[in-house]
Amino acid sequence: MYQLDQHTFANKAVLVRVDFNVPLNDKFEVTDNTRIRAAAKTILKLSSDGAKVILMSHLGRPKGGPEDKFSLRHIQQEVSNVLGKPVAFSGNCVGEEAKHAVEKMKAGEILLLENLRFYKEEEGGDEFFAGQLAELGDVYVNDAFGTAHRAHASTAVIAKFFPTDKYFGYLMEDEVKSIDRVLNGNASPVTAIIGGSKVSSKIAILENLMNAVDNIIIGGGMAFTFIKAQKGKVGNSLVEDDKLALALELMEMARNKNVNLYLPTNAIIADAFASDANHKECSIASIPLGWMGLDIGAKSREHFATIIAQSKTVLWNGPMGVFEMEAFAAGTIAVANALVEATKNGSFTLVGGGDSVAAINQFGLANEVSYVSTGGGAMLESLEGIELPGVRAITS
Ligand code: AMP
Repeated sequence: MYQLDQHTFANKAVLVRVDFNVPLNDKFEVTDNTRIRAAAKTILKLSSDGAKVILMSHLGRPKGGPEDKFSLRHIQQEVSNVLGKPVAFSGNCVGEEAKHAVEKMKAGEILLLENLRFYKEEEGGDEFFAGQLAELGDVYVNDAFGTAHRAHASTAVIAKFFPTDKYFGYLMEDEVKSIDRVLNGNASPVTAIIGGSKVSSKIAILENLMNAVDNIIIGGGMAFTFIKAQKGKVGNSLVEDDKLALALELMEMARNKNVNLYLPTNAIIADAFASDANHKECSIASIPLGWMGLDIGAKSREHFATIIAQSKTVLWNGPMGVFEMEAFAAGTIAVANALVEATKNGSFTLVGGGDSVAAINQFGLANEVSYVSTGGGAMLESLEGIELPGVRAITS
């Protein structure tokens, strides 16, 4: 019902919320156009249908008024290059200038509106402002997964002006479906690999995943809080001493829900948090003082790879070690390779959230897994089980 594919939009003015919040250098050149490329399929579909395609986005963090350094004019040419089509620009996202720019459009043409966040009403979720935006189009499409966890005027509030003419863009649809395959799919066993520095930032995710998956693999700095909670010696490893009881509760919760919770059994330890530190392998629960665990060890790499190989659905969020330093990247590389193998064998593999996305890109393997999420915060909130305002606005 909300799928673009099932409709054509000839002669409709279609307002598309995209996430073109791209990084610019000091010459205002786009240094990474991933987000523009991610929305291209939706834009080109609408354009080839013969719609007037009106793009709205935010860029950076303006303080609620126009600031040239955050103007979307800077990216107009890059959007045009990516799409292979001319893109017009309106210096205001609402009001007469925007209305006039839309009136001038012909079927199939593309218009980029100025930064939505030049109006504080955007982040304020102001209904009048959402209505002003809505006046520009007959149809609303949300393809901005990166901001779907925000209830802003253009990402959520606006949808009420299009009760029967609102759709997910292709990117949104892919993101939502991918998460759904992990949380509600029936291709089991389902395995979640959760890493990163701190357990405190992953509590809600772990709790929610316990209701959805068969296996949870824990790696990264957060593993040491679990090891210490079980009276293991973790030396100078990263530990959250105020989360020891919570770690035990999470282990208990896993047992009660019949979820296998796997921790590393050995680690690569170092005598300093530095790429050239002395390092060696060690049992994870007998790390000497003065040493810290910065990666999972060989046995754990093999163990985790075996579990991943036996899984039909795999979610990966968070590195297994300090992958930014070569000496401590092997665990994260092993997980990435295991996902690639699982994908080749027909499993569904999703990489989502912050540093695991950076890692899979760094290893050049992003095209060899099923899906790499484009949304950091939106992905994490989805994994916590929160229904995103931008998603609910379309489906409700
Ligand atoms: P997060 O931001 O919580 O997802 O954590 C990602 C960061 O955790 C990365 O920058 C890793 O370098 C770091 N990290 C992973 N494992 C460890 C570890 N054993 N000790 C300290 N930091 C780690």
